[in-house]
Amino acid sequence: MAFNWNLIALSGPSVAADASLESCKECGCREFYRQPDFRRDIGLWIIALASVATVLLMVEGYNWFVIWSPMLGVVILDRFFLRLAPDVVICYRCGLIHRGLDRKAADRFEAFDLEVHDRHQYAESHKS
Ligand SMILES: [Zn+2]
Repeated sequence: MAFNWNLIALSGPSVAADASLESCKECGCREFYRQPDFRRDIGLWIIALASVATVLLMVEGYNWFVIWSPMLGVVILDRFFLRLAPDVVICYRCGLIHRGLDRKAADRFEAFDLEVHDRHQYAESHKS
């Protein structure tokens, strides 16, 4: 059975792109950041559930290994998804997700940079 990536993939508007990607298909912006196609809020939910499980196991008086095993499992699962999830490239200005680049093509783009992000947000809010 194939795993359904749509369940954990980033949500929001997206377009198909390829290695020739130079500017955003929506707004023409030429700056992008790369990140795994993985919804962090799901990761946070899983961590929250694991925390509850950890507390319950603690209350039940299990040994430390059993108590921390849900957390350990979550960390491993999280790494696993981050490694397996394909990279997407996201426009700084409009947030459009560009999917379908292979790893080599996606490597051209840097990870998220708050400075670049702020520059775009600042420019946006002072337009018009
Ligand atoms: Zn854009």
